[in-house]
Amino acid sequence: MNRSTKKPSKRCTCGNQKRDHESCPNCSRYKMVFLLRDPNSPYKVRDPKGNLVNPVFWSFLKEDKKPLEAIKKNMLERARKRPIFNHCNKIGLYDRMGNQLEMITV
Ligand SMILES: [Zn+2]
Repeated sequence: MNRSTKKPSKRCTCGNQKRDHESCPNCSRYKMVFLLRDPNSPYKVRDPKGNLVNPVFWSFLKEDKKPLEAIKKNMLERARKRPIFNHCNKIGLYDRMGNQLEMITV
């Protein structure tokens, strides 16, 4: 598919993400934080300040209007395909404002 033919994202208002089928750390509606069992896990990632932190997923912008349960299901399905899923024991689900909605035990 030719990227230049796609319309710019209407749902990302910060300008970080041009495409609605992607996610944006500022504009996505939900966020999942994968709490890795091993504090020295190689799956930790660096935050902008350079600290090692647990990996995070943001929901896709195009799914913003779906019910929370549907978005959660899709995010978990995406996560299951990744090695981090087998290395975490809990997944925190948060809204855009950082409020914790749920702590999922894996
Ligand atoms: Zn954005």
